[in-house]
Amino acid sequence: MIIVLKPHATREVATELLDHIESCGLKPLYMPGEERVVLGALGDERKLSKLQLESHPLVESVKPILAPYKLVSRELHAENSIVNIGQVPVGGEGFVVIAGPCAIESRDQLFQTAQAAKGAGAACMRGGAFKPRTSPYSFQGLGLEGLKLLAEVSAELRLPAVTEVVEVADIEAVETYAAAFQVGARNMQNFRLLRELGQCKKPVVLKRGMAATIEDWLLAAEYVLAQGNPNVVLCERGIKTFETATRYTLDLNAIPLIKQRTHLPVIVDPSHGTGIRELVAPMAKAAIACGADGIIVETHHKPAEALSDGKQSLTPQQFSEMMGELKRFVEAAGRTVVTSEQ
Ligand code: PEP
Ligand code: MN
Repeated sequence: MIIVLKPHATREVATELLDHIESCGLKPLYMPGEERVVLGALGDERKLSKLQLESHPLVESVKPILAPYKLVSRELHAENSIVNIGQVPVGGEGFVVIAGPCAIESRDQLFQTAQAAKGAGAACMRGGAFKPRTSPYSFQGLGLEGLKLLAEVSAELRLPAVTEVVEVADIEAVETYAAAFQVGARNMQNFRLLRELGQCKKPVVLKRGMAATIEDWLLAAEYVLAQGNPNVVLCERGIKTFETATRYTLDLNAIPLIKQRTHLPVIVDPSHGTGIRELVAPMAKAAIACGADGIIVETHHKPAEALSDGKQSLTPQQFSEMMGELKRFVEAAGRTVVTSEQ
């Protein structure tokens, strides 16, 4: 429920109403705006009707939140949210590029790849230490050793790092060594993991499940927010369709649609979305055009030797060329490319 107070309602009135809401067993929310204070009440809305807030002299209106997700919904929070990955704001005026290898393979590989990414204008780096691979016989990542390398390189280059967390037991280590958690497509509905991440402070880059609807995805984000962590960045990374010529089908419809429904920042992963190196730059441009707040791109200093996702990884030169081209698209969209030093 959204409860809009009259312009002259005082803080005391708001507090009194919030106490009422809580005493009914609902979760109260206080959202002061420029002109009016808005209150929220989350939970079983039948309980709220008992309070008869409509007849309160300082309540202007009471309306239900129609979407099944509440905290992530624009109905509850009209303005865009900005989520900071390290010092880098995602979801504001700027356009954020996160780049780096699929997997951390060695210090040298990570350093060279991330240094090239930074040199070409990436604001954040990526690299997986825990890799959820389709086959149990594929390289599974360096684990804790990889996280330590990530922290070292990230500090040396002053590039905040995003890395995947695949299970609850690894959350503490990932929070220690990285600037943001990535929840992979295969874990988007791992509700236990989402709830635990909701109790953390660092941001969560929540990838869309490859068979998840937009509503499933927003409800997954709601799990994190409902536990108290408001810092979620959604990431469209392609869905399974009947098409087999590309690895997945990058669903760019989702970007403008989701921007209508949620205030959370949304980024695009054209690397997994296509699976083909040559398609990464064109789809990155398309992502800018449809309103994404950033992209996450796989790069590798020697893609031919990559232990995972080499076919979709850009060489440093290709990445640098792409960044040169993207700048004009970002400007045409009325934004600027965010740098790591902000
Ligand atoms: C990745 O980013 O390397 C990855 C495994 O992504 P996804 O979960 O989208 O497949
Ligand atoms: Mn990958």
